[in-house]
Amino acid sequence: MLTAEIDIAGERLLLHPHRALYWPRLRWLVVSDLHLGKAAHLRKGGLALPEGHDAHTLQRLDGLLAAFKPERLIILGDLFHSSHNSAWAPFAEWCAQQQEAIHLVPGNHDVLADRRYAEAGIRVCDESVEEGPFVFTHDGTADLGGYVLGGHLHPGVVLKGMGRQRLRLPCFWFGARNGLLPAFGMGTGLHLIEPLPGERVHACTDQAVLDVSGALAGHSPSRRTK
Ligand code: MN
Repeated sequence: MLTAEIDIAGERLLLHPHRALYWPRLRWLVVSDLHLGKAAHLRKGGLALPEGHDAHTLQRLDGLLAAFKPERLIILGDLFHSSHNSAWAPFAEWCAQQQEAIHLVPGNHDVLADRRYAEAGIRVCDESVEEGPFVFTHDGTADLGGYVLGGHLHPGVVLKGMGRQRLRLPCFWFGARNGLLPAFGMGTGLHLIEPLPGERVHACTDQAVLDVSGALAGHSPSRRTK
């Protein structure tokens, strides 16, 4: 598994192909937009979606926790997709088995009653958490003073390969004052981004983090399509 190293606001950060960020100095593992319970929510509405998205999401989280042994897992919002449903209990059980502190910076999808988080041992933070030089919040595009790290957008890019191959990949997107994480959850959709020159974009395959900044800067996905 190939992580990429990046310097942001004077801090060294590691980007992991499984769509997570690790801050070594504080030993924080940072993920965003898990959208757990989404499949169960849509099934209640009559859509037949495959099972197993949440299990896969938690397996990847298990792998990251084992690899980094962080002091804190910080989730930048949209932990659970909807109001309470059958997918919460397995997640709460998963939380109970974890050693590290789990912090949630709430996102627009996080509408569960406070007691649910408390029972799972999750600490719910304010809408933004300052830990110099960073401000952690759900909306990674927000203007909050420091260097903002967030999610919400579910950023992605299209890479053109050999022939007519086109690959849609989730990505990290770092601008001058804002850094966006890809959505960690499964089946969460991608928002194709249009980076400006000088912004840094790292795409995630299952196995590696690819620096695609040069390939994308100044070229919007729509303009790249013939
Ligand atoms: Mn989201």
